[in-house]
Amino acid sequence: MRKYEEYGFVNTKEMFKKAYNEKYAIPAFNFVCLEQMLAILEACIETNSPFILQASANVRKYIGPIMVQRMAQACVEIIKQNEKQIPMALNLDHGLTFEDCKSCVDSGFSSVMIDGSSLSYEKNIEITSKVVEYAHKYDVTVEGELGVLSGTEDEVTHTESYYTDPLLVEDFVKKTGVDSLAISIGTSHGVVKIKIKEGESMPTLRFDILDEIEKRLPGFPIVLHGASAILPKYVEMINKFGGNLKEAQGIPEDQIAHAAKKAVCKINVASDGWIAATAAIRKTLSENPAVIDPRKYLSAAKEEMKNLYIRKIKDVFGCAGKA
Ligand SMILES: [Zn+2]
Repeated sequence: MRKYEEYGFVNTKEMFKKAYNEKYAIPAFNFVCLEQMLAILEACIETNSPFILQASANVRKYIGPIMVQRMAQACVEIIKQNEKQIPMALNLDHGLTFEDCKSCVDSGFSSVMIDGSSLSYEKNIEITSKVVEYAHKYDVTVEGELGVLSGTEDEVTHTESYYTDPLLVEDFVKKTGVDSLAISIGTSHGVVKIKIKEGESMPTLRFDILDEIEKRLPGFPIVLHGASAILPKYVEMINKFGGNLKEAQGIPEDQIAHAAKKAVCKINVASDGWIAATAAIRKTLSENPAVIDPRKYLSAAKEEMKNLYIRKIKDVFGCAGKA
């Protein structure tokens, strides 16, 4: 038995195949703390949605690799306790080195991402192939990335972005053997995804690039990072209760929903969870200045994140009831 199977995780193969054929996307929810993990778990159980629980290399440092692993295993047990059969993958988000990925494969992750997108094309192929070769020995699926997203992803910052060249995708996938590919079609990391000048309207994602990629690689699962909506209600709540988020601008959810019906099989959600949590905590503390019990404001954060995830699953990704 594969190590990840011992823990009850699945790799992303079957999940993506079904998502591709039935035209929806699997949510890949990043977690950084217990409350966020509970929000993800409860949202997916309530909606009967398959999901990918995602930890970045930095979160593994923050919480500790053993704790990340045990928390993820606990999710599987809680799903069983609820008498549900919900497929759950545990994925490393933005592994930057071979060692990051190897340590996740060795500790029982069912999926890893190797992000060589800031390297030269040749170096990206080299490191991605090395990770694929190792991970596939253990049946762990691998996500690569081609094209650069601007913004800050968990302490990794790119100031420039460039779109994925559809002409390179086929070659990259063939040479590396990756199971899925993150591409750049106009999404970006962080809360300022697009800077819109006054009078300008919201630009749309480059669906022409996505279509071109799908034409060249039919049936191949595509991944979107930096696809948070940065909902204005949370930005307003944060700023109303003492925060200072400037120029926050996300990707409209109708565009993400459109991508989910195409070759996009996995959509990452990180920033949207963070701002929902921060808005709820700021509001709770501001309205209840005598509160000292962390459960009071952390549970408010959990509920807000859970509501957000349920809405994404139902209205944006189309994956409710697909477990
Ligand atoms: Zn990312």
